[in-house]
Amino acid sequence: MNIILMGPPGAGKGTQAAKLVKEFGLTQISTGDLFRKAHREQTSIGVISDYFSKFGRLVPDDFTNEMVYDYLKENMNNFGNGFILDGYPRTILQARELEYFEESLGFKIDAVINLDVDFDVLKKRLSGRRTCKNCGATFHIMYKPPKVEGVCDNCGGELYQREDETEAAVKVRLSTYEGQTRPLIDYYKMKGMLTNINGDQSMDDVYSDIKKCLEAL
Ligand code: AMP
Repeated sequence: MNIILMGPPGAGKGTQAAKLVKEFGLTQISTGDLFRKAHREQTSIGVISDYFSKFGRLVPDDFTNEMVYDYLKENMNNFGNGFILDGYPRTILQARELEYFEESLGFKIDAVINLDVDFDVLKKRLSGRRTCKNCGATFHIMYKPPKVEGVCDNCGGELYQREDETEAAVKVRLSTYEGQTRPLIDYYKMKGMLTNINGDQSMDDVYSDIKKCLEAL
């Protein structure tokens, strides 16, 4: 079972994907994580992508598609029960390219799940996030505050605000989503592949709706 998990930044795609990985033995493929890893390793794609990501903009399609193709090709036999694309595709061009990947690498996308979340909620969620510099754990100043302000509960590391989670960057990310990614909802609706899920509910209710959708497959 291969699925696309769609939704604006901050909709909870990563959290829901992690739950699906645990329960269904799927592999999460997060393009955001792949770019951040490339940046840490200072590969050429990491240097290029950081230039766009830190301002909340999308990495150009050519670079993104190439990275995803290489990753899929290299790992095609290691995906367990299938994979969850988290954060890809994000443009119509990427969606078309993914169809070409399906043909050339011989896999099929079974469903597209879209998490629908109110924009005001997203702004609060994203700009309140804090990440541990050391272990990567995430907290939220309102919804999941650390025991000691600025300090990670898990490892004592320093918490910081990701450059793309500042208020200015969040604004750009949301408007980028509106302009470039939202049109994918209609694209997949017209193909009869889309399930819309109310992402304003609690984390557990969102997950239960996703599960219902997958079980129906
Ligand atoms: P995310 O963690 O999914 O929010 O992604 C972080 C950043 O990585 C985004 O703001 C973009 O700059 C970049 N990125 C991730 N996925 C894509 C994609 N499919 N297309 C272009 N840029 C992407």
